[in-house]
Amino acid sequence: MSSRADVSAPITTSDLKVFYCACGELGLVINRSLASLARRPVDNAMILRNTGKDKMYYKLNALLDREPIVYKRPDGLEKQWRLRCQRCDLQLGYETSDAREASTRGPYTYLLHGSVTETQNAVPIGAYDIPAHLT
Ligand SMILES: [Zn+2]
Repeated sequence: MSSRADVSAPITTSDLKVFYCACGELGLVINRSLASLARRPVDNAMILRNTGKDKMYYKLNALLDREPIVYKRPDGLEKQWRLRCQRCDLQLGYETSDAREASTRGPYTYLLHGSVTETQNAVPIGAYDIPAHLT
C-alpha cells in the first residue's frame, strides 16, 4: 500500500505539453516548456536529461539512426546518432552516447532548435535558423 507521503509531485495530464514535427506528427510530450530547457552552446540544441535527480519525463516520438554522423568539434570528434520523425524522417534531435542499449537512452538526449512546434501543421519557430557551425 502506498501512503500519502509517497506522492510528492504527481504529474497530471494537464501538466503535459504536446509538440509536433513540421509534418504534423506528434513529436514530443513533456511536462515543461521548451523555453525552460537548458541549451547546448555548440549548436543551441535543447537538453533532455535522462538520468540523475534532474531526470526529465517525456515521450519523444522518433526513431534512432543505427549509424552515427561524426562532427569535428573544437575539443575533438563527436558522434551523433540522429533521432528522426517516424512519419517524415526529418531530424528532431540526436544522442551522443553509444554506450546504450536499444531500449535505453544515453544520459542526455538533444532536441534540435526549431524541430518541433506547439501548433500542429505549422512550421516550428526557429526552423529556418542556421546553426553557427554551418555558417
Ligand atoms: Zn515529421
